[in-house]
Amino acid sequence: MLYQDLVKVYQALESTSSRLEMTDILARFFRSTDCAHIKPIVYMTQGGIVPDFYPEKLGMADKLYLRTLLAATGAKETMVRELWDREGDPGTVTEKVFETKRQTTLFSEPLTLDRVYDALLRVARLEGSGSQESKVRCLADILHDAKPVEARYIARIVTGRMRLGVASQTVIDSLALAFATKAEKGAVERAFNVTSDLGLVAEVLCLKGIDGLNDIHVMVGNPIRAMLAERLPSPEEILEKMGGRAMFEYKYDGLRVQAHIDNGKITLYSRRLEDLTSQFPDVVKSLGEAFTGRTAIVEGECVPVDINTGEMLPFQEVSHRRGRKHGLTAAIEEYPVRLQLFDCLYLEGEDLTMLPLPDRRTALTRCIVITENVRLSEARVLDDPAKVQEFFTEALNAGCEGLMAKSINDDSVYRAGSRGYLWIKYKKEYRSEMNDTVDLVVVGAFHGRGRRGGVYGALLMATYNPDEDRFETVSKLGSGFDDATLALLPEKLNKFRTPTRHSMVESKMEADVWFEPSLVLEVLGAELSVSPIHTCAHDRIRDGAGLAIRFPRFTGTFRDDKRPRDATTSQEVLDMYNKQLKRVEG
Ligand code: ATP
Repeated sequence: MLYQDLVKVYQALESTSSRLEMTDILARFFRSTDCAHIKPIVYMTQGGIVPDFYPEKLGMADKLYLRTLLAATGAKETMVRELWDREGDPGTVTEKVFETKRQTTLFSEPLTLDRVYDALLRVARLEGSGSQESKVRCLADILHDAKPVEARYIARIVTGRMRLGVASQTVIDSLALAFATKAEKGAVERAFNVTSDLGLVAEVLCLKGIDGLNDIHVMVGNPIRAMLAERLPSPEEILEKMGGRAMFEYKYDGLRVQAHIDNGKITLYSRRLEDLTSQFPDVVKSLGEAFTGRTAIVEGECVPVDINTGEMLPFQEVSHRRGRKHGLTAAIEEYPVRLQLFDCLYLEGEDLTMLPLPDRRTALTRCIVITENVRLSEARVLDDPAKVQEFFTEALNAGCEGLMAKSINDDSVYRAGSRGYLWIKYKKEYRSEMNDTVDLVVVGAFHGRGRRGGVYGALLMATYNPDEDRFETVSKLGSGFDDATLALLPEKLNKFRTPTRHSMVESKMEADVWFEPSLVLEVLGAELSVSPIHTCAHDRIRDGAGLAIRFPRFTGTFRDDKRPRDATTSQEVLDMYNKQLKRVEG
């Protein structure tokens, strides 16, 4: 298959912002594609070359890419740099340079998809001394035979800026449309949620059709997408929703970790499916000691503890350990963590995700011996709101955020990758009037004035709407930033700057600066109100209006463990608004 066939699809995808149209374009392409190619196509269309949880990453630094472009085209450096400063996007710059360069491609080979994919894989895998030169050579080799429009997308993917706006859900919809019926979409979703590998799902569908998905199971080594919780404001409402009785657990304020154990080899994944193993060698060691079996997937929360008192500390303490390459040993001593396990998804070759929670909990107790650093979540089965409230106070006193209520009914399976009422969070913030934290995405900024001259004065924040795959504005955030954070913001945000409003952002406000939705901040709101200037949950309460979070404050926590599509959804804010309204009226 020629790379240009895929490029034509990219161009078609870029020419529309309608998700339905994108789904159609992809479905038609998938149907006509040779199954041997569908895997790389799925990865590349989403800007990668392998599933997200694999170690190979592209994201070539701009400087190195620039060198490659010069080497591949022989173009004048001053001209390229000028273009680079003006355009910002390596894809457009590359295409323009290719259009103006001498046409030497008369006898060059047309680029095949395999050749481009192999080169990208090699670029991602090269490391160590001399690897930069090898990367330049490898990439220059394919660029040499690329047409201008092909070079545009090679540049984008290799620098980590593919940005076609194709979410996993869009690929799932297209795969279902291409290879299954509407009613079978759930099976496609589940196959993705338990393997986190859309390329694999696509390949199986293409080769064997929908029945082939029956052979896709939970696998040690493929992170399972996290099950998420809904929220409710009172023990009464939670118990009612759960059928009168539920298991309540401490809700630890830490870092969610999914551990895959395979005969002594332990891999830790974050909620975003990043491999955390090298950052937590202490957790690997203590889990290895506490686990009595051979293979398992267990899930828990890594909680920072005070070495002197053994008490739990706030989440920020564990975040000191994230991303550290140097001084890790010192960090382990300074910020020790404990693993509080709460679920077992796989044990000794058996997929447990379809079993009810009590059975999974039993499996967990069977395969773990409690040690100093590995424990099970504190849990109690309760049916009395007063007892729940007591347990809640106990959890807060122990340094937790509140409780997690979990269904123990027959249907209490592990719903990978979805948020529902089988798990309900009950946090301390719900006790005061609309005083809950939300995780919002920065989509724009306003220049600062007065004391904030020279830095951003406020940020335009958005929720995520998964149905439309759009980010909808919900507030202008200016409080809660200290001077150091304000000074840091441009550095954190500038790499996401876009010349105009990003196509996935719905906004009626005109920001001074726009960003690709990327950075997620935790925000504490005081109140929700209907607003004609925001687009969150637009037209859902009143035509022409959305919802706004009033008196928002940055809590100081950058939610680096969340991707923009993991941010609080517009629907969640709408639910919060309705609940707040009920309480105000009642
Ligand atoms: P969410 O994960 O729901 O998107 P979030 O990351 O802001 O939101 P919360 O809403 O505070 O987190 O609550 C859910 C998280 O609580 C889980 O993802 C998990 O990391 C954590 N957690 C702590 N204790 C438990 C527990 N006992 N059972 C399940 N999750 C727990």
